[in-house]
Amino acid sequence: MSIESITDASKSDHYVLVPFMAQGHMIPMLDIAQLLANRGARVSFITTPVNATRIKPLLDDRKSNNEFINVVELTFPCKEFGLPEGCENIDLITSVDHYKPFFHAAISLVEPFKLYIREATPTVTCIISDYSSFFTAEVGQSLNIPRIIFHGPSCLYIHGTHSIRIHNSFDGVAEFDSIAVPDLPKKIEMNKLQAWGWFSDPGWEDFRAKAAEAEASSFGVVMNTCYELESEIIDRYERLIKKRVWPIGPLCLYGNHIGLKGDRGKKSSVDEAQLLNWLDSKEAKSVLYVSFGSLVQTKTSQLIEIGLGLENSKVPFIWVIKEIERTVEFEKWISTERFEERTKGRGIVITGWAPQVVILSHGSVGGFVTHCGWNSVLEAVSAGVPMLTWPHFVDQFFNEKLIVEVIETGVAVGVNKPYHYLLEDEVAVKSEVMSKAVLQLMDKGEEGEERRRRAKQYGDKGRKAMDEGGSSWMNLSLFMDFMSRSV
Ligand code: UDP
Repeated sequence: MSIESITDASKSDHYVLVPFMAQGHMIPMLDIAQLLANRGARVSFITTPVNATRIKPLLDDRKSNNEFINVVELTFPCKEFGLPEGCENIDLITSVDHYKPFFHAAISLVEPFKLYIREATPTVTCIISDYSSFFTAEVGQSLNIPRIIFHGPSCLYIHGTHSIRIHNSFDGVAEFDSIAVPDLPKKIEMNKLQAWGWFSDPGWEDFRAKAAEAEASSFGVVMNTCYELESEIIDRYERLIKKRVWPIGPLCLYGNHIGLKGDRGKKSSVDEAQLLNWLDSKEAKSVLYVSFGSLVQTKTSQLIEIGLGLENSKVPFIWVIKEIERTVEFEKWISTERFEERTKGRGIVITGWAPQVVILSHGSVGGFVTHCGWNSVLEAVSAGVPMLTWPHFVDQFFNEKLIVEVIETGVAVGVNKPYHYLLEDEVAVKSEVMSKAVLQLMDKGEEGEERRRRAKQYGDKGRKAMDEGGSSWMNLSLFMDFMSRSV
Protein backbone atom coordinates (compact mmCIF):
# COMPACT_ATOMS: atom_id res chain seq x y z
CA MET A 1 0.00 0.00 0.00
CA SER A 2 1.45 3.44 -0.84
CA ILE A 3 1.58 6.28 1.67
CA GLU A 4 -0.82 8.29 -0.51
CA SER A 5 -3.49 5.62 -0.30
CA ILE A 6 -3.47 5.58 3.49
CA THR A 7 -6.16 7.73 5.02
CA ASP A 8 -6.99 8.50 8.61
CA ALA A 9 -9.27 6.12 10.44
CA SER A 10 -12.95 6.58 10.15
CA LYS A 11 -14.29 8.44 13.19
CA SER A 12 -16.42 5.41 13.96
CA ASP A 13 -13.42 3.09 14.43
CA HIS A 14 -13.30 2.25 18.09
CA TYR A 15 -10.30 0.53 19.69
CA VAL A 16 -10.53 -0.82 23.21
CA LEU A 17 -7.15 -1.10 24.90
CA VAL A 18 -6.71 -3.44 27.87
CA PRO A 19 -3.28 -2.99 29.43
CA PHE A 20 -2.03 -5.06 32.31
CA MET A 21 -1.75 -3.03 35.49
CA ALA A 22 2.01 -2.50 35.70
CA GLN A 23 3.82 0.67 34.67
CA GLY A 24 5.96 -1.03 32.02
CA HIS A 25 2.77 -2.38 30.39
CA MET A 26 0.53 0.68 30.76
CA ILE A 27 3.01 3.28 29.51
CA PRO A 28 3.43 1.91 25.95
CA MET A 29 -0.31 1.20 25.67
CA LEU A 30 -1.03 4.82 26.55
CA ASP A 31 1.26 5.75 23.65
CA ILE A 32 -0.73 3.42 21.39
CA ALA A 33 -3.96 5.06 22.58
CA GLN A 34 -2.61 8.46 21.60
CA LEU A 35 -1.25 7.28 18.27
CA LEU A 36 -4.64 5.79 17.35
CA ALA A 37 -6.49 8.92 18.51
CA ASN A 38 -4.12 11.05 16.43
CA ARG A 39 -5.13 9.03 13.39
CA GLY A 40 -8.77 9.85 14.11
CA ALA A 41 -9.95 6.70 15.91
CA ARG A 42 -11.96 6.55 19.14
CA VAL A 43 -10.10 4.84 21.96
CA SER A 44 -11.29 3.36 25.26
CA PHE A 45 -8.49 2.73 27.73
CA ILE A 46 -9.58 0.15 30.30
CA THR A 47 -8.10 0.63 33.74
CA THR A 48 -8.95 0.98 37.43
CA PRO A 49 -9.46 4.05 39.65
CA VAL A 50 -5.96 4.19 41.20
CA ASN A 51 -4.29 3.79 37.79
CA ALA A 52 -6.65 6.35 36.27
CA THR A 53 -5.47 8.98 38.78
CA ARG A 54 -1.93 8.43 37.48
CA ILE A 55 -2.87 8.56 33.81
CA LYS A 56 -5.42 11.34 33.60
CA PRO A 57 -3.07 14.25 34.47
CA LEU A 58 -0.67 12.99 31.77
CA LEU A 59 -3.42 12.99 29.16
CA ASP A 60 -4.54 16.46 30.27
CA ASP A 61 -0.98 17.70 29.70
CA ARG A 62 -0.69 16.44 26.17
CA LYS A 63 -1.92 18.59 23.33
CA SER A 64 -3.04 15.81 21.00
CA ASN A 65 -6.43 14.37 20.19
CA ASN A 66 -6.96 13.24 23.75
CA GLU A 67 -10.65 14.07 23.68
CA PHE A 68 -10.96 10.89 21.58
CA ILE A 69 -9.55 8.84 24.48
CA ASN A 70 -12.00 7.65 27.08
CA VAL A 71 -10.39 6.34 30.29
CA VAL A 72 -12.74 3.61 31.53
CA GLU A 73 -12.48 2.79 35.23
CA LEU A 74 -13.48 -0.72 36.33
CA THR A 75 -13.56 -1.30 40.08
CA PHE A 76 -10.63 -3.49 41.13
CA PRO A 77 -11.86 -5.94 43.78
CA CYS A 78 -8.93 -5.68 46.23
CA LYS A 79 -10.86 -6.65 49.36
CA GLU A 80 -12.51 -9.65 47.73
CA PHE A 81 -9.09 -11.10 46.86
CA GLY A 82 -7.35 -10.28 50.14
CA LEU A 83 -5.34 -7.36 48.76
CA PRO A 84 -4.78 -4.10 50.65
CA GLU A 85 -7.14 -1.32 49.60
CA GLY A 86 -5.78 0.55 46.57
CA CYS A 87 -3.35 -2.21 45.54
CA GLU A 88 -4.23 -1.81 41.86
CA ASN A 89 -0.80 -1.84 40.21
CA ILE A 90 2.02 -4.39 40.44
CA ASP A 91 4.31 -1.62 41.70
CA LEU A 92 2.05 -1.25 44.76
CA ILE A 93 2.47 -4.88 45.84
CA THR A 94 4.54 -5.11 49.01
CA SER A 95 4.25 -8.85 49.77
CA VAL A 96 5.16 -11.78 47.51
CA ASP A 97 1.96 -13.47 48.71
CA HIS A 98 -0.07 -10.85 46.88
CA TYR A 99 1.04 -11.58 43.30
CA LYS A 100 -1.38 -14.45 42.68
CA PRO A 101 -4.40 -12.76 44.28
CA PHE A 102 -3.55 -9.71 42.16
CA PHE A 103 -3.79 -11.76 38.94
CA HIS A 104 -7.01 -13.40 40.12
CA ALA A 105 -8.48 -9.98 40.88
CA ALA A 106 -7.45 -8.82 37.38
CA ILE A 107 -9.09 -11.87 35.76
CA SER A 108 -12.30 -11.17 37.68
CA LEU A 109 -12.68 -7.96 35.65
CA VAL A 110 -14.02 -10.17 32.85
CA GLU A 111 -17.71 -9.56 33.68
CA PRO A 112 -17.65 -5.74 34.02
CA PHE A 113 -15.42 -5.68 30.93
CA LYS A 114 -17.91 -7.74 28.95
CA LEU A 115 -20.72 -5.43 30.00
CA TYR A 116 -18.71 -2.41 28.88
CA ILE A 117 -17.93 -3.94 25.47
CA ARG A 118 -21.52 -4.99 24.91
CA GLU A 119 -22.83 -1.48 25.49
CA ALA A 120 -19.96 0.52 23.99
CA THR A 121 -20.68 3.17 21.36
CA PRO A 122 -19.53 3.30 18.67
CA THR A 123 -19.44 -0.48 18.51
CA VAL A 124 -15.99 -1.90 19.09
CA THR A 125 -13.72 -2.34 16.04
CA CYS A 126 -11.07 -4.25 17.90
CA ILE A 127 -9.80 -5.14 21.37
CA ILE A 128 -6.06 -4.68 21.86
CA SER A 129 -5.19 -6.75 24.87
CA ASP A 130 -1.96 -7.07 26.79
CA TYR A 131 -0.68 -10.66 26.73
CA SER A 132 -1.27 -10.84 30.50
CA SER A 133 -4.86 -9.56 30.30
CA PHE A 134 -5.91 -12.90 28.82
CA PHE A 135 -9.45 -12.69 30.25
CA THR A 136 -10.28 -10.60 27.17
CA ALA A 137 -10.17 -13.73 24.96
CA GLU A 138 -13.49 -15.09 26.15
CA VAL A 139 -15.16 -11.67 25.76
CA GLY A 140 -13.86 -11.22 22.22
CA GLN A 141 -15.00 -14.70 21.24
CA SER A 142 -18.45 -14.54 22.84
CA LEU A 143 -19.22 -11.09 21.42
CA ASN A 144 -17.51 -11.79 18.10
CA ILE A 145 -15.07 -8.89 18.28
CA PRO A 146 -11.59 -9.13 16.74
CA ARG A 147 -8.87 -9.23 19.36
CA ILE A 148 -5.20 -8.38 18.98
CA ILE A 149 -2.43 -9.18 21.44
CA PHE A 150 -0.04 -6.46 22.53
CA HIS A 151 3.39 -7.79 23.44
CA GLY A 152 5.33 -5.19 25.45
CA PRO A 153 8.77 -6.93 25.51
CA SER A 154 11.34 -7.27 22.72
CA CYS A 155 10.62 -9.67 19.86
CA LEU A 156 13.87 -11.45 20.77
CA TYR A 157 12.32 -12.40 24.13
CA ILE A 158 8.89 -13.31 22.75
CA HIS A 159 10.26 -15.37 19.87
CA GLY A 160 13.15 -16.80 21.92
CA THR A 161 10.96 -18.14 24.75
CA HIS A 162 8.45 -19.51 22.21
CA SER A 163 11.18 -21.37 20.31
CA ILE A 164 12.80 -22.69 23.49
CA ARG A 165 9.44 -24.12 24.57
CA ILE A 166 8.71 -25.72 21.18
CA HIS A 167 12.16 -27.29 20.98
CA ASN A 168 12.23 -28.30 24.68
CA SER A 169 15.72 -26.83 24.63
CA PHE A 170 16.31 -27.02 28.37
CA ASP A 171 15.24 -30.63 28.85
CA GLY A 172 17.96 -32.34 30.89
CA VAL A 173 20.10 -29.17 31.01
CA ALA A 174 21.41 -27.93 34.40
CA GLU A 175 20.33 -24.45 35.57
CA PHE A 176 23.62 -22.69 34.86
CA ASP A 177 24.50 -24.53 31.63
CA SER A 178 23.89 -22.46 28.54
CA ILE A 179 22.12 -23.46 25.35
CA ALA A 180 21.93 -21.66 22.01
CA VAL A 181 18.42 -20.20 21.67
CA PRO A 182 16.88 -21.99 18.64
CA ASP A 183 15.71 -20.32 15.41
CA LEU A 184 17.59 -17.02 15.71
CA PRO A 185 19.55 -15.31 12.94
CA LYS A 186 22.55 -15.01 15.28
CA LYS A 187 23.87 -17.43 17.91
CA ILE A 188 22.71 -16.30 21.33
CA GLU A 189 23.42 -18.38 24.40
CA MET A 190 21.47 -18.28 27.64
CA ASN A 191 21.18 -20.39 30.76
CA LYS A 192 17.86 -21.68 32.04
CA LEU A 193 17.45 -19.03 34.73
CA GLN A 194 18.21 -16.21 32.32
CA ALA A 195 15.66 -17.57 29.85
CA TRP A 196 12.94 -17.91 32.50
CA GLY A 197 9.73 -16.75 30.84
CA TRP A 198 6.73 -14.87 32.20
CA PHE A 199 4.41 -17.27 34.16
CA SER A 200 7.14 -19.96 34.20
CA ASP A 201 7.28 -20.42 37.98
CA PRO A 202 5.70 -23.56 39.43
CA GLY A 203 2.07 -22.89 40.31
CA TRP A 204 1.57 -20.48 37.39
CA GLU A 205 0.96 -23.18 34.72
CA ASP A 206 -2.71 -22.34 34.42
CA PHE A 207 -1.98 -18.64 33.78
CA ARG A 208 0.64 -19.58 31.20
CA ALA A 209 -1.73 -21.94 29.39
CA LYS A 210 -4.53 -19.36 29.34
CA ALA A 211 -2.23 -16.60 28.07
CA ALA A 212 -0.90 -18.92 25.34
CA GLU A 213 -4.46 -19.89 24.34
CA ALA A 214 -5.46 -16.22 24.23
CA GLU A 215 -2.53 -15.49 21.92
CA ALA A 216 -3.34 -18.49 19.72
CA SER A 217 -6.97 -17.40 19.28
CA SER A 218 -6.11 -13.75 18.54
CA PHE A 219 -6.19 -12.08 15.11
CA GLY A 220 -2.56 -11.02 15.33
CA VAL A 221 0.04 -9.19 17.37
CA VAL A 222 1.19 -5.60 17.73
CA MET A 223 4.64 -5.07 19.21
CA ASN A 224 6.64 -2.23 20.65
CA THR A 225 9.65 -2.68 18.41
CA CYS A 226 10.66 -1.89 14.84
CA TYR A 227 12.20 -3.59 11.80
CA GLU A 228 15.29 -1.44 12.10
CA LEU A 229 16.05 -3.12 15.42
CA GLU A 230 14.82 -6.71 15.09
CA SER A 231 13.87 -7.35 11.45
CA GLU A 232 14.90 -10.99 11.04
CA ILE A 233 13.61 -11.97 14.46
CA ILE A 234 10.23 -10.37 13.73
CA ASP A 235 9.99 -12.27 10.43
CA ARG A 236 10.83 -15.56 12.14
CA TYR A 237 8.28 -14.93 14.89
CA GLU A 238 5.58 -14.15 12.32
CA ARG A 239 6.36 -17.45 10.57
CA LEU A 240 6.36 -19.32 13.87
CA ILE A 241 2.95 -18.14 15.09
CA LYS A 242 1.43 -17.98 11.59
CA LYS A 243 -0.25 -14.66 12.34
CA ARG A 244 0.19 -11.05 11.32
CA VAL A 245 2.71 -9.17 13.44
CA TRP A 246 2.76 -5.37 13.32
CA PRO A 247 5.85 -3.78 14.91
CA ILE A 248 4.80 -0.17 15.64
CA GLY A 249 7.53 1.18 17.93
CA PRO A 250 9.56 2.58 19.51
CA LEU A 251 6.37 3.90 21.08
CA CYS A 252 8.27 6.23 23.40
CA LEU A 253 8.99 8.38 20.35
CA TYR A 254 5.31 9.19 20.03
CA GLY A 255 5.87 12.33 22.16
CA ASN A 256 8.42 13.66 19.67
CA HIS A 257 5.75 14.00 17.04
CA ILE A 258 3.76 16.45 19.08
CA GLY A 259 6.81 18.27 20.45
CA LEU A 260 6.45 16.69 23.88
CA LYS A 261 8.65 14.45 25.98
CA GLY A 262 7.23 14.99 29.47
CA ASP A 263 6.43 12.48 32.19
CA ARG A 264 5.61 8.85 31.46
CA GLY A 265 3.56 6.64 33.74
CA LYS A 266 3.07 9.22 36.48
CA LYS A 267 4.10 12.73 37.49
CA SER A 268 7.79 13.03 38.32
CA SER A 269 9.00 13.64 41.87
CA VAL A 270 11.55 16.35 40.97
CA ASP A 271 11.61 19.91 39.69
CA GLU A 272 12.34 19.30 36.02
CA ALA A 273 13.56 22.85 35.36
CA GLN A 274 16.20 22.55 38.11
CA LEU A 275 17.26 19.15 36.85
CA LEU A 276 17.62 20.46 33.30
CA ASN A 277 19.66 23.44 34.56
CA TRP A 278 21.99 21.03 36.32
CA LEU A 279 22.31 18.90 33.19
CA ASP A 280 22.94 22.04 31.09
CA SER A 281 25.93 22.79 33.32
CA LYS A 282 27.58 19.45 32.49
CA GLU A 283 29.77 18.51 29.53
CA ALA A 284 28.18 16.78 26.53
CA LYS A 285 27.72 12.99 27.08
CA SER A 286 29.42 13.10 30.49
CA VAL A 287 26.53 12.18 32.83
CA LEU A 288 25.53 8.63 33.79
CA TYR A 289 21.84 7.98 34.51
CA VAL A 290 21.09 5.08 36.88
CA SER A 291 17.57 3.65 37.20
CA PHE A 292 16.01 0.21 37.47
CA GLY A 293 12.48 0.95 36.25
CA SER A 294 9.26 0.64 38.22
CA LEU A 295 9.31 -2.90 39.66
CA VAL A 296 12.81 -3.84 40.81
CA GLN A 297 13.33 -3.22 44.52
CA THR A 298 17.04 -3.04 45.31
CA LYS A 299 18.11 -4.13 48.77
CA THR A 300 20.14 -1.80 50.97
CA SER A 301 23.44 -3.71 50.76
CA GLN A 302 23.28 -3.50 46.94
CA LEU A 303 22.35 0.21 47.00
CA ILE A 304 25.43 0.90 49.10
CA GLU A 305 27.64 -0.93 46.58
CA ILE A 306 26.07 1.11 43.77
CA GLY A 307 26.62 4.36 45.69
CA LEU A 308 30.29 3.54 46.34
CA GLY A 309 30.77 2.39 42.75
CA LEU A 310 29.37 5.68 41.45
CA GLU A 311 31.48 7.71 43.85
CA ASN A 312 34.69 5.90 42.96
CA SER A 313 34.09 6.17 39.23
CA LYS A 314 34.23 10.00 39.56
CA VAL A 315 31.64 10.20 36.77
CA PRO A 316 28.78 12.75 37.12
CA PHE A 317 25.52 10.89 37.77
CA ILE A 318 21.76 10.99 38.34
CA TRP A 319 20.72 8.04 40.51
CA VAL A 320 17.04 7.12 40.96
CA ILE A 321 16.08 5.40 44.22
CA LYS A 322 12.55 4.30 45.06
CA GLU A 323 10.85 5.54 48.22
CA ILE A 324 10.40 1.95 49.38
CA GLU A 325 14.18 1.37 49.04
CA ARG A 326 15.00 4.17 51.49
CA THR A 327 15.09 1.89 54.52
CA VAL A 328 16.27 2.99 57.99
CA GLU A 329 19.54 1.21 57.28
CA PHE A 330 19.98 3.05 53.99
CA GLU A 331 19.19 6.43 55.60
CA LYS A 332 21.80 5.67 58.25
CA TRP A 333 24.41 4.87 55.60
CA ILE A 334 23.69 7.85 53.37
CA SER A 335 23.78 10.32 56.27
CA THR A 336 26.67 8.94 58.33
CA GLU A 337 28.78 8.38 55.20
CA ARG A 338 27.79 11.88 54.01
CA PHE A 339 27.34 10.40 50.52
CA GLU A 340 25.45 13.38 49.11
CA GLU A 341 28.00 15.85 50.53
CA ARG A 342 30.90 13.87 49.11
CA THR A 343 29.34 13.75 45.66
CA LYS A 344 27.87 17.28 45.77
CA GLY A 345 27.88 19.03 42.41
CA ARG A 346 28.77 15.75 40.70
CA GLY A 347 25.78 13.62 41.56
CA ILE A 348 22.04 13.92 42.09
CA VAL A 349 19.89 11.38 43.91
CA ILE A 350 16.22 11.39 42.88
CA THR A 351 13.86 9.64 45.27
CA GLY A 352 10.64 8.47 43.62
CA TRP A 353 9.67 8.84 39.97
CA ALA A 354 12.15 10.46 37.56
CA PRO A 355 11.32 12.11 34.22
CA GLN A 356 13.34 9.39 32.48
CA VAL A 357 12.71 10.28 28.84
CA VAL A 358 13.54 13.94 29.51
CA ILE A 359 16.81 12.93 31.20
CA LEU A 360 17.84 10.42 28.53
CA SER A 361 17.14 12.93 25.78
CA HIS A 362 19.45 15.58 27.27
CA GLY A 363 22.74 16.00 25.40
CA SER A 364 24.79 15.79 28.63
CA VAL A 365 23.70 12.21 29.29
CA GLY A 366 26.24 9.74 27.91
CA GLY A 367 25.34 6.47 29.63
CA PHE A 368 22.49 4.60 31.30
CA VAL A 369 22.81 1.89 33.95
CA THR A 370 19.63 -0.07 33.26
CA HIS A 371 17.81 -3.18 34.43
CA CYS A 372 17.00 -3.68 30.70
CA GLY A 373 13.22 -3.29 31.02
CA TRP A 374 12.15 -3.06 27.38
CA ASN A 375 10.65 0.43 27.67
CA SER A 376 13.84 1.73 29.24
CA VAL A 377 15.91 0.05 26.53
CA LEU A 378 13.83 1.60 23.75
CA GLU A 379 13.99 5.01 25.44
CA ALA A 380 17.79 4.77 25.55
CA VAL A 381 18.04 3.45 21.98
CA SER A 382 15.78 6.27 20.75
CA ALA A 383 17.90 8.86 22.55
CA GLY A 384 21.13 7.31 21.23
CA VAL A 385 22.45 6.59 24.75
CA PRO A 386 24.80 3.60 25.35
CA MET A 387 23.84 1.28 28.21
CA LEU A 388 25.45 -0.59 31.08
CA THR A 389 23.21 -3.65 31.26
CA TRP A 390 22.17 -5.12 34.61
CA PRO A 391 19.20 -7.45 33.99
CA HIS A 392 17.11 -8.59 36.98
CA PHE A 393 14.36 -10.90 35.66
CA VAL A 394 12.17 -12.29 32.84
CA ASP A 395 12.73 -10.58 29.46
CA GLN A 396 15.58 -8.42 30.72
CA PHE A 397 18.29 -11.05 30.06
CA PHE A 398 17.16 -11.38 26.42
CA ASN A 399 17.10 -7.59 26.10
CA GLU A 400 20.65 -7.47 27.41
CA LYS A 401 21.74 -9.88 24.66
CA LEU A 402 20.14 -7.66 22.05
CA ILE A 403 21.93 -4.57 23.37
CA VAL A 404 25.35 -6.12 23.94
CA GLU A 405 25.59 -8.80 21.24
CA VAL A 406 23.23 -7.75 18.46
CA ILE A 407 23.17 -3.95 18.20
CA GLU A 408 26.35 -3.59 20.29
CA THR A 409 25.42 -0.37 22.04
CA GLY A 410 26.09 -1.55 25.57
CA VAL A 411 28.42 -3.18 28.05
CA ALA A 412 27.26 -5.99 30.36
CA VAL A 413 27.94 -5.51 34.06
CA GLY A 414 28.13 -9.32 34.31
CA VAL A 415 24.99 -10.66 36.03
CA ASN A 416 24.04 -14.24 35.17
CA LYS A 417 21.03 -15.04 37.36
CA PRO A 418 17.72 -13.36 38.25
CA TYR A 419 17.83 -11.25 41.39
CA HIS A 420 15.35 -13.38 43.37
CA TYR A 421 17.93 -16.20 43.12
CA LEU A 422 20.45 -14.16 45.10
CA LEU A 423 21.15 -15.45 48.60
CA GLU A 424 20.05 -13.29 51.54
CA ASP A 425 23.49 -11.70 52.04
CA GLU A 426 24.58 -11.83 48.39
CA VAL A 427 24.95 -8.72 46.25
CA ALA A 428 24.93 -9.12 42.47
CA VAL A 429 27.46 -6.38 41.71
CA LYS A 430 30.22 -5.14 44.02
CA SER A 431 31.29 -1.49 44.00
CA GLU A 432 34.67 -2.23 42.31
CA VAL A 433 32.91 -4.10 39.49
CA MET A 434 30.39 -1.30 39.17
CA SER A 435 32.96 1.50 38.91
CA LYS A 436 35.10 -0.48 36.45
CA ALA A 437 32.08 -1.17 34.22
CA VAL A 438 30.98 2.48 34.44
CA LEU A 439 34.42 3.64 33.30
CA GLN A 440 34.37 1.13 30.44
CA LEU A 441 30.96 2.43 29.30
CA MET A 442 31.90 6.11 29.55
CA ASP A 443 35.34 5.51 27.98
CA LYS A 444 36.49 8.35 25.71
CA GLY A 445 38.75 6.05 23.66
CA GLU A 446 38.10 4.30 20.38
CA GLU A 447 35.89 1.55 21.79
CA GLY A 448 33.61 4.04 23.58
CA GLU A 449 33.45 6.29 20.52
CA GLU A 450 32.47 3.34 18.31
CA ARG A 451 29.71 2.41 20.75
CA ARG A 452 28.43 5.98 20.85
CA ARG A 453 28.46 6.11 17.05
CA ARG A 454 26.39 2.92 16.83
CA ALA A 455 24.00 4.16 19.53
CA LYS A 456 23.44 7.36 17.60
CA GLN A 457 22.80 5.40 14.38
CA TYR A 458 20.15 3.25 16.09
CA GLY A 459 18.55 6.38 17.56
CA ASP A 460 18.33 7.86 14.06
CA LYS A 461 16.86 4.62 12.72
CA GLY A 462 14.27 4.45 15.52
CA ARG A 463 13.13 8.02 14.82
CA LYS A 464 12.95 7.30 11.11
CA ALA A 465 10.75 4.24 11.78
CA MET A 466 8.24 6.40 13.66
CA ASP A 467 8.31 9.36 11.25
CA GLU A 468 5.60 9.67 8.62
CA GLY A 469 6.29 7.02 5.97
CA GLY A 470 8.71 5.10 8.23
CA SER A 471 8.34 1.35 8.84
CA SER A 472 6.43 1.58 12.14
CA TRP A 473 4.29 4.46 10.90
CA MET A 474 3.37 2.36 7.87
CA ASN A 475 2.68 -0.69 10.04
CA LEU A 476 0.26 1.26 12.20
CA SER A 477 -1.54 2.38 9.04
CA LEU A 478 -1.65 -1.17 7.70
CA PHE A 479 -2.88 -2.45 11.05
CA MET A 480 -5.68 0.12 11.25
CA ASP A 481 -6.63 -0.57 7.66
CA PHE A 482 -6.71 -4.32 8.34
CA MET A 483 -8.94 -3.83 11.38
CA SER A 484 -11.32 -1.45 9.59
CA ARG A 485 -11.81 -4.11 6.92
CA SER A 486 -12.22 -6.95 9.44
CA VAL A 487 -15.39 -5.61 11.07
N1 UDP B 1 10.01 5.31 34.49
C1 UDP B 1 10.03 6.67 34.68
N2 UDP B 1 10.56 7.14 35.84
C2 UDP B 1 11.08 6.33 36.80
C3 UDP B 1 11.05 4.93 36.59
C4 UDP B 1 10.52 4.45 35.41
O1 UDP B 1 9.57 7.45 33.83
O2 UDP B 1 11.55 6.83 37.83
C5 UDP B 1 9.41 4.79 33.25
C6 UDP B 1 10.47 4.46 32.22
O3 UDP B 1 10.77 5.61 31.45
C7 UDP B 1 9.79 3.35 31.44
C8 UDP B 1 8.93 2.64 32.46
O4 UDP B 1 8.76 3.55 33.54
O5 UDP B 1 8.94 3.92 30.45
C9 UDP B 1 9.56 1.38 33.01
O6 UDP B 1 9.36 0.34 32.11
P1 UDP B 1 10.45 -0.76 31.82
O7 UDP B 1 9.90 -1.65 30.78
O8 UDP B 1 11.75 -0.13 31.51
O9 UDP B 1 10.66 -1.52 33.19
P2 UDP B 1 9.66 -2.12 34.30
O10 UDP B 1 9.32 -0.99 35.19
O11 UDP B 1 8.47 -2.70 33.60
O12 UDP B 1 10.51 -3.14 34.99
